[in-house]
Amino acid sequence: MTFTLAIVGRPNVGKSTLFNRLVGKRLALVDDQPGVTRDLREGAARLGDLRFVVIDSAGLEMADDDSLQGRMRRLTERAVNEADICLFVIDARAGVTAADEYFADILRRRSKHVIVAANKAEGRAGESGAMEAWGLGLGEPLRISAEHGEGMDDLYRALVPLSDRIEAERPAPVAAETDVDLSDADAESGEGAEDWRPSAARPLQLAVIGRPNAGKSTLINKIIGEDRLLTGPEAGITRDSISVSTDFMGTPMRIFDTAGMRKKAKVTDKVEKLSVADGLRAVRFAEVVVVLLDVAIPFEQQDLRIADFAETEGRAVVVAANKWDLEDDKPHKLNELRASFEKLLPQLKGAPLVTVSARTGKGLDRLHAAVLKAHEVWNRRIPTARLNQWLGAMTESHPPPAPGGRRIRLRYMTQIKTRPPAFIVKATHTDKLPDSYQRYLVNGLRADFDMPGTPIRLFFRDQG
Ligand code: GDP
Ligand code: GDP
Repeated sequence: MTFTLAIVGRPNVGKSTLFNRLVGKRLALVDDQPGVTRDLREGAARLGDLRFVVIDSAGLEMADDDSLQGRMRRLTERAVNEADICLFVIDARAGVTAADEYFADILRRRSKHVIVAANKAEGRAGESGAMEAWGLGLGEPLRISAEHGEGMDDLYRALVPLSDRIEAERPAPVAAETDVDLSDADAESGEGAEDWRPSAARPLQLAVIGRPNAGKSTLINKIIGEDRLLTGPEAGITRDSISVSTDFMGTPMRIFDTAGMRKKAKVTDKVEKLSVADGLRAVRFAEVVVVLLDVAIPFEQQDLRIADFAETEGRAVVVAANKWDLEDDKPHKLNELRASFEKLLPQLKGAPLVTVSARTGKGLDRLHAAVLKAHEVWNRRIPTARLNQWLGAMTESHPPPAPGGRRIRLRYMTQIKTRPPAFIVKATHTDKLPDSYQRYLVNGLRADFDMPGTPIRLFFRDQG
């Protein structure tokens, strides 16, 4: 199924560049000079396993005549009318301009589904411009680089739930299954705090990763049910299909893992290498990552690398020790696993460790609960007032150091985003704040706000 995406925004922010990237051919004209007259153009786009129609509205002239605003409005409205989703592009390096505000205003009133993308944000460029884009009131800005292809995974993750929702909103054909949650589909689109909960229209995106033979396909098959067994090539799963939608104990999920869905019989070196790359790709598309270990050989190099990657990418993580049915001395083994986990993956401190048997299905309820909890925490937003109360208590019980006699003051704290939770602390002399103090705060946040299984990002900004 498909949808239409309109790329809108003022001239020169990179709309055509993005269009070209999504369409994959050099169809649209890219020009450094604002002022090339273009009209709406359409292309068939693909991103991951999504297929959709993209409209490039880069048809604006920066002419100095007074009808510019009128033309901007007309063109944008045309694109908006033809599209299911609007991708509103700004230039992260330039920050938010008056023209951007003007567009935002149109979009707020006209379009149901809007995604804001701060472009030209390759590397660490444009961080503050992207931050400013929060102020447009259109939700969390994605940081992308159309030219360098960065942030396309975030764009994918923003599009999937909308695509699913648009699908659910379409009039159902006669005799179609109708078990979609219409109450949810009717809900306003956007940034409501409760908006992320898995529903029929918005499944939780899960990746199961791990070394070959850890039991990934067995687990996924167990989750989706024996009747839909996908291990053989005859099942017709192609390299292209990177996800499968299912219902895991009442929670709609989209599970990623090409490797696990391919035939396992001949695990040649080549396939093994591919499966690692697939694993990494699956992580990019996922919200929650299950790192599946073979309990007989847990925490091998490959497991550690992939778990570390999931953390770096900011995904919620659940570690599952599989083949638990083979274990005789379970209590002893569990202690051993916990100890290795703490030692080898300190960056995943607090992530849940569950034991499962993909073969028998034992422990799948624990896995399900851990995944839901990690997803909830990953999406959690803590009110600013509570954060500042907490910050006050933390600095009181353990004040920051005073390098050279000048005390570092942590003045104010707020959460700037979710998925994963990220916070900014405004402070003095932030460059002098020791890592140990930063860890004290992160660990404190995790413990006091009960946030296991998610990376927590903490940034410090100098203020007076
Ligand atoms: P449009 O008018 O919005 O369609 O913008 P274009 O796609 O024509 O891009 C305008 C200019 O910005 C061109 O010089 C592009 O090469 C440049 N550009 C587009 N995307 C990026 C990006 O991600 N990073 C950087 N640094 N430049 C970009
Ligand atoms: P993948 O390469 O990670 O997809 O692993 P597979 O799902 O193909 O499983 C590899 C082998 O481990 C197969 O022989 C499975 O039958 C076996 N296996 C998977 N899960 C379990 C389990 O929970 N218990 C036991 N005893 N064997 C398992």
